[in-house]
Amino acid sequence: MRLSKLYMPTLREDPQDAEIASHKFLLRAGMIRKSASGIYTYLPLGYRSIRKIENIVREEMDNAGAMEILMSAIQPSEIWKESGRWEKFGPEMFKLKDRNDREFCLGPTAEEYFTTLVRDEVKSYKDLPLNLYQIQTKYRDEKRPRFGINRAREFSMKDAYTFDVSPETLEISYNNMYNAYEKIFDRLELDYKIVEGDNGAMGGTGSHEFIALSETGEGVIVYSNSGKFGATEEKAPVEYILPQSKDVKDLEKVHTPNASTIEEVSKFLDVDSKRCAKAIDLMIEDEPVIVFIPGDRELNLAKLVSYTGVAEHDIRMMEDSEIESIKTKKGYTGPIDLDVRKIFDKRITEINNLVIGANEDEYHYVNANYGRDFDGEVVDDLLLVTEGDKVPGTDEYYKFARGIEVGNIFKLGTKYSEALNATYLDENGKSNYFYMGSYGVGITRSVTAVIEQNHDDNGIIWPMAVAPYEAIVTIVNTKDDDQVALGERIYEDLKSQGVEVLLDDRKERAGVKFKDRDLIGIPLRITCGKKSSDNIVEYSTRRELKNFEISFEDAIRTVLNEVEKVR
Ligand code: ATP
Ligand code: MG
Repeated sequence: MRLSKLYMPTLREDPQDAEIASHKFLLRAGMIRKSASGIYTYLPLGYRSIRKIENIVREEMDNAGAMEILMSAIQPSEIWKESGRWEKFGPEMFKLKDRNDREFCLGPTAEEYFTTLVRDEVKSYKDLPLNLYQIQTKYRDEKRPRFGINRAREFSMKDAYTFDVSPETLEISYNNMYNAYEKIFDRLELDYKIVEGDNGAMGGTGSHEFIALSETGEGVIVYSNSGKFGATEEKAPVEYILPQSKDVKDLEKVHTPNASTIEEVSKFLDVDSKRCAKAIDLMIEDEPVIVFIPGDRELNLAKLVSYTGVAEHDIRMMEDSEIESIKTKKGYTGPIDLDVRKIFDKRITEINNLVIGANEDEYHYVNANYGRDFDGEVVDDLLLVTEGDKVPGTDEYYKFARGIEVGNIFKLGTKYSEALNATYLDENGKSNYFYMGSYGVGITRSVTAVIEQNHDDNGIIWPMAVAPYEAIVTIVNTKDDDQVALGERIYEDLKSQGVEVLLDDRKERAGVKFKDRDLIGIPLRITCGKKSSDNIVEYSTRRELKNFEISFEDAIRTVLNEVEKVR
């Protein structure tokens, strides 16, 4: 492709709302354009990289025995109502009606769609296991679209679904996909970690997330140095060290003026903050619920979601008026004589002589003890991990890292097949629910992960496998016939040998050409300058930037060698 013909609207200035490198460079390199919040157009160079990622994913899915299909991006509401997710999915779902008032959604994912397809078509154990996938645009009305195509409202996802006869064969299908995902992210040359995930609102019995490491990532993961353990922050179990036990004392109500926070009350009463119970006043599906945890820790919302089975968007903090209406006071909520649903992190039942709100302004109880003075539902672990926590059952401390979730795999078990009554007949003619798995790769988000890990101040540094073009030939001065002739010759030669090559034949200043070349990040570069009359060119790579003067034949050979490595 000739740059004189290529639609590549590069920008000199940094776009204002671009917070991270990938967003900035995708815009500046003329690869994407914003249409509306979280909705983007992919321009020629950007779309080529997206298609390369798509093809890598497609090849590895096909190698793993998955079969590609394509279901509509528009999905009928009925199947979502059957599974219960029409309401449960919440405000992220784009809903619409046709002219006859029939309801649809723009698919945010496709568990229901695939399950009902297979339910209606696959009848016998002889047809199992089955592994189907699609690469289809997904729609999610994200609360906070940001970082360009990293968290968009319209994005491309590969989603796959497996159907099995038993938990044991699901395990095989799952491991097969796990391995395929490793191959995909290796081929994208990403630096990533695989960690245990939280099944959350998806349901099911286990999951892994593939996290491309990046300081700009929204995901936090924890892992052990030995590599034995890795999990998302949401999933990570917390081993809490209880404060030293004291003799159980009598309950007493005390005046605690201006001490509504843990810090204040712990200081005022001179009691370790571990012993001061923290109350979190919540509305869960519009029902008041108070959650209690040790005062020195934070609530892990994902663990509460798992326990209650209520999605995050249906959980919120109480408003002041709601706190009043359950007959307590903000900052002084406690479980004694409070007639609402109460959920306790188990540690609250194990720490004695607690300081706990008395539901009156400026009053706390001291020496409150679970069982004797109050009770309620107990959950093993509702705590968020923090720096200094040990990996349970080991001598290692958790390490923390940030990253971008590029893939996610779930064992769903029979959650969706039961909800949608999807069964097959086994050898004995008995009907059984399918054991399912679901597997996602963010195609467009992967582009951002690649760029976050591969850029410098001047632009993108594409790895060969996902670069929009593999090589670029720059004619420094288009008024010089020798330079033009040599550039054209190299370009035609590389093209005829199957190299994806750009020719910068624009009538621009050399500086502009070099700047653009760095910005768009093409890996292999040949520069036809002053020594073109002697058939000498400069060869360099985008990553190393070092220039070598070599004969044009050697430059062509080097490019062919490099290209061969990724073919
Ligand atoms: P996140 O926690 O980032 O919201 P998710 O758990 O909602 O992700 P999944 O439902 O597992 O995501 O979707 C599968 C994959 O699709 C994710 O691993 C991610 O790569 C991609 N993805 C999810 N949401 C978006 C989005 N808003 N924009 C771009 N890609 C996305
Ligand atoms: Mg999400």
